[in-house]
Amino acid sequence: MTVRLNACLECGCDLAPGPQEREFCCAGHRSAWNNRRLQRGAALYDLYMAHRFERPVAQAAGVFQAINRLASDFRAEDREVRAGRRSWRRLDTVLGERPHLRSVKFRVRVGR
Ligand SMILES: [Zn+2]
Repeated sequence: MTVRLNACLECGCDLAPGPQEREFCCAGHRSAWNNRRLQRGAALYDLYMAHRFERPVAQAAGVFQAINRLASDFRAEDREVRAGRRSWRRLDTVLGERPHLRSVKFRVRVGR
């Protein structure tokens, strides 16, 4: 499988190089790509929130394994239907929009 750098993330067609890095050939393909992320995210959301905030019940039900299985299913679908093109936003972009997620909390102990 070869993933080209200058290709639309949705259809894989060639993108002409320009002054700005483009990811899609048209608005419709950007929308389709984002709609898939919305649907997949909704499927993961409830499982992850249960994993985080209903820990005993979620652990007993194997929720984290279910989350990983879903992600693997999504990636398998990307490989079969979308020639392996990336279906998620770049980590630097996501964390760049939410700098507080990069910060590390630490506590300074004062006395004992
Ligand atoms: Zn396209």
